[in-house]
Amino acid sequence: MLEMAEAEHTALLLKCYTKLKDFSTLEEFLRTTPPSQYDHATAIEVLESASYYDLAAEVAQKVGRYDDYVRISLEQFKNCSATVEFLRSLPRAEAGRILLRRRALMRHAPKETIALVRHLCELDSQASPTEQGPAIDELLPVFVDDLPQLEVFLRSVLLDDGCQLPHSKAERLFPTLLELLVKSHSELVSGEGAASDQQEAASSIAADIMRLIRQYPSDAALANTLMVCQTHGFVDGFFYAAEKLHRHQLLMQWCFEHKDAGRLLDVCKRCGPADQSLWVQALSFLASPESGEGHLEEMQEVLRHIEDSDLMPLLLVIETLRNSEEVTIGDVRPYLQAQYRRLVDSVEVSRGKSTQDRQEIARMQQEIVQLRTQAKEFQNTRCFQCGLTLEVPAVHFFCGHSYHSFCTPTDGTCPKCSSGALPKLSLKEQREAQARNAEDFFKYLQGGGDRVQAMGEWCKFGAFDADNLADMDEDD
Ligand SMILES: [Zn+2]
Ligand SMILES: [Zn+2]
Repeated sequence: MLEMAEAEHTALLLKCYTKLKDFSTLEEFLRTTPPSQYDHATAIEVLESASYYDLAAEVAQKVGRYDDYVRISLEQFKNCSATVEFLRSLPRAEAGRILLRRRALMRHAPKETIALVRHLCELDSQASPTEQGPAIDELLPVFVDDLPQLEVFLRSVLLDDGCQLPHSKAERLFPTLLELLVKSHSELVSGEGAASDQQEAASSIAADIMRLIRQYPSDAALANTLMVCQTHGFVDGFFYAAEKLHRHQLLMQWCFEHKDAGRLLDVCKRCGPADQSLWVQALSFLASPESGEGHLEEMQEVLRHIEDSDLMPLLLVIETLRNSEEVTIGDVRPYLQAQYRRLVDSVEVSRGKSTQDRQEIARMQQEIVQLRTQAKEFQNTRCFQCGLTLEVPAVHFFCGHSYHSFCTPTDGTCPKCSSGALPKLSLKEQREAQARNAEDFFKYLQGGGDRVQAMGEWCKFGAFDADNLADMDEDD
């Protein structure tokens, strides 16, 4: 019996038939010979090269070389609809593989092809998947020559009628759709002399984009959104993602670059509670010459906030405002007046305190003189500790308290008064120790911290009192 013929034999035989132009014998041979007895690839190749396309297609279909069948159908018969129908009848996985190789289908019959893709990915079937079809992202290359169709398709899957995929799968497709939409939007917006219907389309796409972005709140998706929107200049999406990711500096930078005082104020209001320094940055930008002119209203609002939350000292604000060529004293008068009132109030409070302290010191000095120069009478008859009648030996303290000698503690202090005095003494010692620590002070200064504040702190400890300075010199 004839085994499967060698490729050369098949080729030779078929070539003879085609040379003789003996179509009927050729047809007869292919119809009657079982496919297992000749080499399929060679047969199709010879038939094609002799322009017997019908026959080649027939053989390809009969022997299960579907890719060849689809190729010949597309190249020779240009019958796209029929080809799509044929692909539908194949197992999904195989149809997907063939479709990826025959992208021309999308060019010639986009509608049918999109329907085919939906069918292959089982988007339309309600039932649970029966056989393993290709995933949508595997089939995306089919759209590579026709991005508008891809946009339509992905919109239909992710956006228009709600998301038709499980969230994890949808999130993989989301960046592709987002980029397509954002690109379309920027093309519409940048079109010169944009007509009103074009603007309408742009704002409708913008609304769709925001709706899409809000569906994917994960950090990875937001980072993607941020990148795509920044690259293609879709400002609303960029602001949304940056705010969600707490990338406040990106937003400030954008406002600085675009000199957009309105949005700057908006950023401060929305993100200020999380980062108060934004207000300070906003003020120094608005006051700088780079911000351009006409931001007085925004500047006053920023000043109001800085004043309410006490974010900057007055001197720093004045220093900042000095940079502006536009701001006059009149513009910031309410702020300055309020600040001066506050200063005056605080000065008055301090003066009151200092008067109190001076009186206290005078009283104490008087008391010391009295203790040194005047006799003190002790008329207590009862011990302050146990309450019994005093007997000799008794101990009298200058504070006016008297005790039995066995009622006084061994350290020789008045039990009534020392409990109040001890914490103060230890605080004083602590501060003196801190004041003597010159090394820490210079470290702090060199560390680039707020120098004035550091001086203030160490003044409080008495670091610059004459005694301590002498101590330091001795140490050196
Ligand atoms: Zn006492
Ligand atoms: Zn006693």
